[in-house]
Amino acid sequence: MKRIGLTGSIGSGKSTVARMLSQRGIPVLDADQVAREVSRDPQTLAEVSKAFGPEYITQEGLNRPKVAALVFQNPQARETLNSIIHPRVRARMLELEQNLNSPVVVQDIPLLFEGGLDHTMDATIVVDAPLEQRIERVMVRDGLTREQILARDHTQMPASEKRKRATFVIQNEASLERVEAQLEYILDELGWPFSEA
Ligand code: ATP
Repeated sequence: MKRIGLTGSIGSGKSTVARMLSQRGIPVLDADQVAREVSRDPQTLAEVSKAFGPEYITQEGLNRPKVAALVFQNPQARETLNSIIHPRVRARMLELEQNLNSPVVVQDIPLLFEGGLDHTMDATIVVDAPLEQRIERVMVRDGLTREQILARDHTQMPASEKRKRATFVIQNEASLERVEAQLEYILDELGWPFSEA
């Protein structure tokens, strides 16, 4: 099975590219979605409560606004949260991957390079767009402030560094048609359709 890592900075267009891949019948595993799933697990919640206090969880699961406010300001808390969530996400992603009967899987992982997971991939695709454009898109999509978005962006590896490490870069500063065209080129380079390779 060929493994392709999909990443990029906040608001770059990872989910947009993931949707385009799914539309082509390529399976995509979404690390954010898996993280949401594992963060509902009672054992995860118990560890979060123990690490930060019971006010960080609710009856429904994580108290997301409170947890976000803490970890995007406090690097040590962020590391603690990651050490609780990330190993569980990895284990679940492996399980999901094994259940796929496919010659290829794309893993959409925002912290692909930061977590050193790029070494487990056959190729990586970094989606990128200018900072101001990313901020504007996320402000519209999530209703976050410019400062909140910048605080989140600063917790990640700089976009320029991600570009350097990428096998392929998709520049997402124009139309979705331009993104489709770049994706077509990359899939071609990778040998899509893989089952016929
Ligand atoms: P995050 O890092 O926050 O998960 P992301 O990298 O997955 O974000 P998307 O959700 O794909 O980014 O894109 C951010 C927003 O910008 C979305 O609302 C999306 O519809 C919009 N968007 C992405 N690409 C384009 C484009 N080329 N033209 C117009 N809007 C776009």
